[in-house]
Amino acid sequence: MTTPKLPHIALIPSAGMGHLMPFLRLAAMLAKQNAIVTVITAQPTVSIAESDHISSFLRHNPKINHLELQLTPSFGQANGAPVDPFFLQMHLINQSIHLLPPLLSSSSPPISAIFLDFLLAAKVAPIAKTLHLPVYIVCTSSVAFLSLMAYLPMLVSNPVEFNKTKAEINIPGLPPMAMSTIPPVFHDSGHLLTSIIITNSPALSEAKGIFMNNFEWFEASALAALNKDRVIESLPPVLPIGPLEPYHAPHDDDKRDRYRSWLDNQPAESVVYISFGSRTAMSRDQIRELEKGLEKTGWRFFWVLKTSKVDKDDQEDAEHFLNESFLERTKNKGSVIKGWVDQQEILAHPAVGGFVSHCGWNSVMEAAQQGMPMLAWPQHGDQKMNAKVTEEAGLGLWERGWDWGPSGIVKGEEIERKIVELMTDEKLRERAKKVGEEARKAVGRGGSSDKVIREVVESLIIPF
Ligand code: UDP
Ligand code: UDP
Repeated sequence: MTTPKLPHIALIPSAGMGHLMPFLRLAAMLAKQNAIVTVITAQPTVSIAESDHISSFLRHNPKINHLELQLTPSFGQANGAPVDPFFLQMHLINQSIHLLPPLLSSSSPPISAIFLDFLLAAKVAPIAKTLHLPVYIVCTSSVAFLSLMAYLPMLVSNPVEFNKTKAEINIPGLPPMAMSTIPPVFHDSGHLLTSIIITNSPALSEAKGIFMNNFEWFEASALAALNKDRVIESLPPVLPIGPLEPYHAPHDDDKRDRYRSWLDNQPAESVVYISFGSRTAMSRDQIRELEKGLEKTGWRFFWVLKTSKVDKDDQEDAEHFLNESFLERTKNKGSVIKGWVDQQEILAHPAVGGFVSHCGWNSVMEAAQQGMPMLAWPQHGDQKMNAKVTEEAGLGLWERGWDWGPSGIVKGEEIERKIVELMTDEKLRERAKKVGEEARKAVGRGGSSDKVIREVVESLIIPF
């Protein structure tokens, strides 16, 4: 008698921690369900964080296979203008995709499905078709932003309507989107990110489904518009499977021990955690104002400071960027750290009572899972749209006027006011707790997200 064969799933993320992290979490989750898993990553990575996480993940998950797509080096310039190294990497992975078929064909047992980053869809879908492999797309953003990306080719083909001077854009069947929440680079089809998205969106229709690090309850109406009302007809089913569970990654380093013991010594829900993700740097002027605001609130704080987009360029200590007098006056109240921290662990710590965040989607889902109230301070890309989703779900506050790019910085007094609101708004805290309960229900046994991923894995089991 023959037994059913376990599926062998190849997972292919694009560039940056915001993309790698959900893929590694998904890999661990699939392995737990007895799928055979191969993660294919581009080499070299842009950041040290990516290479560190890949190696530590593989050390702790020895059953998961790893293959590397070797990239050809590039000069990092286009028309003389510097290009975002993460977007350039996405472009380079696409350029090197001819190296993928031999990797897939050499895998044993044979690959049975590909779970693929949205930003690689157009190049990989035809390869999968030739090899008769089903493709699932993994989208690392909100459902609202997915809708925008899926509809972007249509928008850019109508420059009269898709015009910066308009107040909003309309995707029929979805609530209007404020133009101010749309990444400005989407108006420039020559921008690398915009062209990557426009190229990849049409290939979404080739996939059997689009996985979202999200849960039914959190963005219910946007999901219903796409799945039930089919407002963007070309899209396959949109499948919420989150919040993706963090994988167990024991680290033992001195820095981590120090901040953990600092947090252990703070009262419950007394600390504001401030972090803007893995690739968002803060200017010196904005750092000054944040210092002022934090000090004035009187709340304890744990601030992860980043001053360069890529971690390799971000080696100076926090002291180098902060006022000596600020450090002296707040030494019993706060901790400022440079370098990687385990955010998931910090958000789960009982001392932390609020999260000031740029609203990278992983951060939003990690906060949702912990029922942690957020103060959304989005800067670019999908972050403003994610901030709106966060606010609508009741997980966070969002001050729409805040910016911190070239169009101005937020003053210390403003920051103080909003942080006090974040830490004292009891309604928000209650609502955030409810979000946490719903998130945990979704991923618990038989929950909406749990069911979706189990059904997909079961459908991939080869019955003979
Ligand atoms: N992260 C972390 N420690 C850090 C910085 C980031 O653990 O010091 C994690 C964070 O928890 C999230 C991911 O890195 O899982 C960043 O993704 P997100 O979508 O929040 O933002 P991005 O970095 O892509 O802007
Ligand atoms: N982005 C994302 N998921 C996607 C596509 C894009 O998280 O599927 C994010 C990307 O990581 C980046 C942002 O969208 O953070 C684009 O940023 P933008 O080009 O507006 O600003 P820049 O980083 O160039 O200042």
